[in-house]
Amino acid sequence: MSAKTLYLHIPFCKSKCSYCDFVSFATRRDDPLMEAYAGALAFQIDEAAETGLIEAPMTAYIGGGTPSHLGEGIVGLAERAASFGSLSELTVEANPEFLTFDLSLRLKESGVSRLSIGVQSLDDAELAALGRIHDAKTALQALNCAIELGFDISADLMCAIPLQTSSSWQGTLEGVLGTGVSHVSVYPLMIEEGTAFARAVAAGKQDVPDDGDEALRMEEADALLSSRGFARYEVASYAKEGRACLHNQAYWTGISYLGLGTGAASMFGCEESPALARSFPQLGKPPADAARIRLSCTTDRAYLAAHPALSEQSFDVEYLSLRESLAEDLMLGARMSCGISPALVSRARDVMGAELDDCLSSLIADGYLAESLAPTRRGWLLGNELYGRLWELSSG
Ligand code: SF4
Repeated sequence: MSAKTLYLHIPFCKSKCSYCDFVSFATRRDDPLMEAYAGALAFQIDEAAETGLIEAPMTAYIGGGTPSHLGEGIVGLAERAASFGSLSELTVEANPEFLTFDLSLRLKESGVSRLSIGVQSLDDAELAALGRIHDAKTALQALNCAIELGFDISADLMCAIPLQTSSSWQGTLEGVLGTGVSHVSVYPLMIEEGTAFARAVAAGKQDVPDDGDEALRMEEADALLSSRGFARYEVASYAKEGRACLHNQAYWTGISYLGLGTGAASMFGCEESPALARSFPQLGKPPADAARIRLSCTTDRAYLAAHPALSEQSFDVEYLSLRESLAEDLMLGARMSCGISPALVSRARDVMGAELDDCLSSLIADGYLAESLAPTRRGWLLGNELYGRLWELSSG
């Protein structure tokens, strides 16, 4: 078996946003490293296809960082991903400041079907407070241009951010919906260690986001988006009918994925180990009880650009037992509005027995899950408690 989805990580941004702890580095637009890195990822795709690590992928996603910062370099990578000929969806993440008409057109011609655009807010003061380098006008231009070219568009938004009010949040949502996007992601601000925001909080210069504000903004988004024909299909994701992101749904349903690039994550079932062993001999043999392996690429971007062979890459490696894999899948199932599937419950029951039924019954009794095992409103709002209780099943 091979990976059925492909993720390419582009760890370059023009500058670092105040809240960001993603694997991305401020990089000059003319830095030759970006082109070399894109070429190295193309080399890795070829090698993974040759070793059988990936075969006929259903979806591909080029994320970051800021893939659109690469300009034409990203077009070549998109063309390489599209050349599998098997993709039902090819997404590129883009930030408004670099999404010109010419680049959008080139991406369309290369086979990209979907753009995920980092709008975050349509209030210039809020954008500046986040350290974003675009303004609302540029974001709307990017959305309108991409829609004109016929892409599926996701607008990515943030709530519970500095300066945001109920009224400015409504303005952002209305402004984005006015462009005709078919998908909206809504993420609350998190204060992550090592970010400019974390330093400002530590220095007493900034407040920690308020849980009440976060819940209120999520509820406001839910009410408005639901009234405009968007269905919430995952805790942070809303889509018009037929426009849910296939790539992200693959992540949440335990489908193997190959992530290439600095910071990219991969996940395989250990039954795929022959292809894994051919591609990554440096990993050694998995433990006898391992059912799943998760890799996070720790290779430095400059090293990767100069030494692209898969056998040269370094990883943080995590092996999961069958029980841990099932607990992980239960957690992921509880993120989605369709809930935990009967087939997954049946597989998990074979391993966890009555403990599973006790856990699910208590989550239903406490109002986190409906009888259908779909998350309730309480389950959406207090997701960490819900996922934490399901993860407790991993240790038996
Ligand atoms: S553009 Fe995205 S990845 Fe880049 S620094 Fe800002 S939040 Fe992080």
